[in-house]
Amino acid sequence: MPVSGAKKVFHRMMWAVMGMFGPMISCRELTDFLERYVDGGLTPEEQRAFDRHLSMCRPCRAYVASYRKTIELERSAFAGPDGPVPDEVPEELVRGVLAARRAAG
Ligand SMILES: [Zn+2]
Repeated sequence: MPVSGAKKVFHRMMWAVMGMFGPMISCRELTDFLERYVDGGLTPEEQRAFDRHLSMCRPCRAYVASYRKTIELERSAFAGPDGPVPDEVPEELVRGVLAARRAAG
């Protein structure tokens, strides 16, 4: 059948074009890679596919940028001098509360 023949040629062309750009990953696959990407745990092939997708997909670029920012914020929150708020209540606060109670009572 000539019709299916034309279809086959078209498919072969599609694959040739895709081959020039190398393997493509989808936006979903990119988000699956993201965690390992930030940790530098991607294989060279995955890294290339990841970078290629980013170079062509603006939403994913924005997503990766905000993801990295979040990771950096989390890391600095745990490692930096402005660490988590201590569990203990500052003593001045306790004394202030007690004084206020005495004044009220
Ligand atoms: Zn994308």
